[in-house]
Amino acid sequence: MGKEMRDLLNDARTRGVAVGHFNVSDIAILKAVVGAAHDMQAPVIVGASEGERKFLGTRQLAALIRSLRDEIDVPIFLDADHTHSLVSALDAAKAGFDSIVFDLSALPFDENIRQTRQAVEALKGINPAIIIEGEIGDIGTGSEIHETASETHGVLTTAEEARQYVQATGVDALAPAVGNRHGMSRSMVEGSSRKHLDLARIAELKAAAGCFLTLHGGSGTEDKDFVGAIHAGINTIHVNTELRVAWRHGLEKGLATDPGEVVPYKILTDAVAAVQDVVRSRLRLFSGAA
Ligand SMILES: [Zn+2]
Repeated sequence: MGKEMRDLLNDARTRGVAVGHFNVSDIAILKAVVGAAHDMQAPVIVGASEGERKFLGTRQLAALIRSLRDEIDVPIFLDADHTHSLVSALDAAKAGFDSIVFDLSALPFDENIRQTRQAVEALKGINPAIIIEGEIGDIGTGSEIHETASETHGVLTTAEEARQYVQATGVDALAPAVGNRHGMSRSMVEGSSRKHLDLARIAELKAAAGCFLTLHGGSGTEDKDFVGAIHAGINTIHVNTELRVAWRHGLEKGLATDPGEVVPYKILTDAVAAVQDVVRSRLRLFSGAA
C-alpha cells in the first residue's frame, strides 16, 4: 500500500475524524478488528501492549499484519502500545511496527523527557517514518474491569507540560490525561455510567502541543464526549476493555451453546462476532457517521 501512518493521521485530521485503535490479544480479536475494518471500509490501527505482544509474539504479530495487508482493501497499521523500556521498543521497531507508545509516564517529568528523547532518536534511526507517542499524566493501568474503580480522575495533563514535553522530546503524538482512564468500572460494563472527558482541556493541549493527540482508555466513554474530543483535536482513540468484555461474553455464549463442542473455531465464532460488533460501532462513531 506504501502509505505511511503519518499520512493516515494527517488525512483523518483534515477530515475531522479519528482513527480507531483496537488492542488484540489473540487471533479471534484480530479477526474481528480486521473484519470490522473491512465491513466499515475504515482504516484501523491494531495495537498490542507488552503483555499482549508477549502472548502473541512481537515478530509473529508483525508478520500476521503484513500478510493481512496483502489481502484487505483498507489500511491496517500496527502499534506497540504502552512500551515501558527502550529494549522492548527497539524489538517492536525492528519487527516492523508502525508506531510505538513509549510510556514512561510513571517516572518523574524530567526523567520521562530525558529517556523519551533518547528513545525517539534511537527508534527513528531504525525507521525514520515510525510514529512515536509519549505520555504524561496519570491515566491508570490495566484494560480490565476495576471493581473498586474510582470515579475521580488522576492528575490531568496541563498545557504547559504538554508544550514543554513535546518540544523537548520530539514525539509525534501525545497521550494526555483528560478525564480518560484505562479499564472500565462494573457500572460502565452494565451501562449505568459513562466516562466524561475534559473537552476544553483537549483543545488547550492541542494548541500547546501542536502534535497528534491520542485518547487512551476510550472504553465506556459517553458517545457525545468522543465526538467532542475529536472536534477538540483527538486523532486516535484506543479501545480495549470493551473488546475484552465482548470477547468473554461471546466465548461464554459459544461454550454454552453445546457443552460437548471441542472445536475451537466453532466455539470462538460468537466471540469474533461480538467483538466485531463493538469495533464496527466504534468505527461508525469515530468517523462521524453515527
Ligand atoms: Zn492506553
